[in-house]
Amino acid sequence: MLLATDTPGAPAAPNRQLLIFSDLDGTLLDHHDYSYTAAEPAIEELRVRAIPLILNTSKTLEETRTIRAQMGNNHPFIVENGGAVAVPEGYFEGKPCNADTPLEIHHFGLPYGELCDLLQELRAEHQWPFRGFRDFSVEELSRQTGLTPAQAKAAKARESSEPVKWAGEAAQLKLFESQLSDHGLKLVEGGRFHHVMGRTDKGRGLQWLLCRYRQFWPETEFVTVALGDGGNDVAMLEVAQIPVVITPSVPERAAITIENSANAHYPSAAGPTGWAQAIQQIINQECLAA
Ligand SMILES: [Mg+2]
Repeated sequence: MLLATDTPGAPAAPNRQLLIFSDLDGTLLDHHDYSYTAAEPAIEELRVRAIPLILNTSKTLEETRTIRAQMGNNHPFIVENGGAVAVPEGYFEGKPCNADTPLEIHHFGLPYGELCDLLQELRAEHQWPFRGFRDFSVEELSRQTGLTPAQAKAAKARESSEPVKWAGEAAQLKLFESQLSDHGLKLVEGGRFHHVMGRTDKGRGLQWLLCRYRQFWPETEFVTVALGDGGNDVAMLEVAQIPVVITPSVPERAAITIENSANAHYPSAAGPTGWAQAIQQIINQECLAA
């Protein structure tokens, strides 16, 4: 096995290695109950074959860390829509890692404290009508979002992006957005909040990690697979060699479209069931190609 392993005596490095980058909500996690049960056999297959599963999500580090530990995943992961990448210490030297291995964090864009300071300055100067996660107490955020207090606490522990609730006119929001742009930041519309973040996305996180893999294992040919269901996954799917478009499990939401559709997979089932279908198919194809 070529990567950090907890299996002594594993086989020697293959020349071709899949890297799987996956969104969580609606993709690997079921949209309704956040379960990944349907994908478990495929996750196990990846583990047995020593194929890295790299979570790439809009969630925070704390939120992702919990899910990753449940999955027994020991690979790097990307949080806050490409806002930061977490790498277990020693991973890129082939040292054994597990879910508890301390993490090295690489930030894209401003670190969270500086980002919030800047937002506070802009608000004080222009009276912008917004409140962000930093302004909310755990109890308040829990009321606003329906998260439990423990979940709200994990959602508030941020690295490099700030969700804000805008209470003004759309025209004002445009002005705010152009001010953010002057500071190298962008505004991304989410379900409940607008997210202020650096000029990054899930695709940039993928590319950064791919460079690290190539740097430390120059003999290996890495093949990137990306799975996602939402608009914030398009950048990641478009830089991957094998994109997998997961069907939304909410009927009113249209499936995303991507530019590089030649190698794309479109599993028929939604969420983690479709995820498992696609992974199995890709592994089978790789076995045939080997
Ligand atoms: Mg999603």
